[in-house]
Amino acid sequence: MKSSKNLKENDIIALKKAHPCGSNRWAVLKVGMQVKLECLNCGKKMSFARREFEKRYKSILK
Ligand SMILES: [Zn+2]
Repeated sequence: MKSSKNLKENDIIALKKAHPCGSNRWAVLKVGMQVKLECLNCGKKMSFARREFEKRYKSILK
């Protein structure tokens, strides 16, 4: 199941490509037209347009 349709705030996800810090665990901060993520290793926050996020999304971890 690769769809991110059911994602919600506080879910932990993996992206297809790891963050430069080496981690691939992200907390979902906000889901909507924009998806906002926080890297669980280094704390960096990133936001993507929904369509961009769909391309990067890999799986839900929790
Ligand atoms: Zn990071």
